[in-house]
Amino acid sequence: MMGPAEGTPGGMDFDTDVLDRIGRAAAAAYPSEGCGALLGPRGEPRRVTEMIPLENREKGTPQVRFEISPRDYMDIELEAERSGLQLLGFWHSHPDHPAMPSPTDLSFAWEGLLTVIVSVREGGPSDIGAWELPASGAPFGPVEIRRAETADLVSSLAIGANGGGA
Ligand SMILES: [Zn+2]
Repeated sequence: MMGPAEGTPGGMDFDTDVLDRIGRAAAAAYPSEGCGALLGPRGEPRRVTEMIPLENREKGTPQVRFEISPRDYMDIELEAERSGLQLLGFWHSHPDHPAMPSPTDLSFAWEGLLTVIVSVREGGPSDIGAWELPASGAPFGPVEIRRAETADLVSSLAIGANGGGA
């Protein structure tokens, strides 16, 4: 079996805490689609450490569509800049539908950004998947979601702070 080619996005680390928050926001939006932005530290390797919930601006059929306003997008870019993070992608939910991208999702996928989809069944998050349209021109493909323990990061930061004596 061949290993992944150079530059192939094999997976992305997500803080467990962020995954939990996505699940809760998706459940809260049910039976409408929920959505939000995914951010993380700049540079490589990419890791999703922050989630900003967004209001679904779709007024007609929010059960099967979601819309993010240009204003929301600008606010996210500002927030990312202020906190030293970068925008890594967006998530949205599929109420009572599988966590698979629809033709609409594909047509709205942004190059280099993750499309994360959460399936919500009867009000509870049931499945989550991630896809990416690589900037390299490669086809829209699945990205493995790797759960990264937020607690490890927090405790190592705490140790560093104590050691510094500040
Ligand atoms: Zn969708």
